[in-house]
Amino acid sequence: MKNKLIILFAVVAFVIAMPFIGNNSVDVKNPHKLDIDGNFILYDWHHKGFVEGERTGENPEWDYNLKPVQVSKRVWCFFGAMEMPTKDNAGDMSNSCYIQGNDSWIAWDSGPSYIFAKQAHAAMKKIKDMPVKTVIVSHEHDDHWLGNNYYTETQGATVYGPRSINVNYLGYDEETQKKKADTREIPAQTRMIRALYQNAIRQTKLVPVKKSFHHTTNFTLHGVKMEYVKVGYAHSEEDWFLYLPDDKVVLVADVVMNGRVTSNRDGIVIGQINAINAIKSRDWNYLVPGHGFITDKTAADEATQYFALLKDRVLEAMDDEVIADDITRYVTLDEFRDKDLYYVLSPGNVFRSYEELEMFDEDDIIDYGQKEEEDD
Ligand SMILES: [Zn+2]
Repeated sequence: MKNKLIILFAVVAFVIAMPFIGNNSVDVKNPHKLDIDGNFILYDWHHKGFVEGERTGENPEWDYNLKPVQVSKRVWCFFGAMEMPTKDNAGDMSNSCYIQGNDSWIAWDSGPSYIFAKQAHAAMKKIKDMPVKTVIVSHEHDDHWLGNNYYTETQGATVYGPRSINVNYLGYDEETQKKKADTREIPAQTRMIRALYQNAIRQTKLVPVKKSFHHTTNFTLHGVKMEYVKVGYAHSEEDWFLYLPDDKVVLVADVVMNGRVTSNRDGIVIGQINAINAIKSRDWNYLVPGHGFITDKTAADEATQYFALLKDRVLEAMDDEVIADDITRYVTLDEFRDKDLYYVLSPGNVFRSYEELEMFDEDDIIDYGQKEEEDD
């Protein structure tokens, strides 16, 4: 009995002492505002008294642990986690690629932060020590382009990308593409800048796109032939994909995802279907999605099926006079239940499609001709 009591006391004493074991002298003013490394989270600086210098921290950089995967002869990609952006993945949840040119790497989507881009470039230099003189961006979502300022600042790179980045994030005029008088009191922010730990997001700045186009454009950069294809309003307000005809590779970003359910929060179903048709009208052997690991000829199959089912089932529900409030119970995409993020994103996609498809017109679907069928 006595022994048991002693053991019990020892256990209680240990539990009470636990927070102090190995903890030497901590002086914290706002403990709820510290991240795991004791850094202030950048969100704290998102206020009127913003001071530029406060953005820097001195603890070691976040290690993204980046491993390039070779997709084709000239293309390597970094594949991100199948998750929403969190502090734990530091925004590394989308795919970004490097294309080997004759005198420079070309970056396709630069990832979620300056530090990500810097580490990606360091990994690629081990394959071939070349600068990055050109960055090409797919769309405005911040997991795809916040690494741009690493390339502009350290490589003198030119950024090609959608005009929507300049308009929506940097206060540019849509027509003239000139910066409007900035009336903002705080620097431009994105969800990534607000959410990530300081040692992952520091040094990240929003820089404008330098070269943008109104329509699909062909160019040769650093010896590589490319078609930069505009698909317009699809997954976001302005989506583009990159086709490398000599390599038979297509880098499509978020108009195609696989292994997970897409987020159509900013997108439209009909735009998505048109984008996928445009992709299918090119001749390719490898496709790199914005999220997901499948890159062979089946890479677009899930997205094709998802949007076709979404459109058909929502239209059918409308015929059955299902009201908006019931639509997410009535239309489920059970075929995708085992995919990542199904429960987080699929109901939202259904609801959003309901709003969109009330205005549906069959003529909105563009027929690009099915390249694949000739090949098979
Ligand atoms: Zn996106």
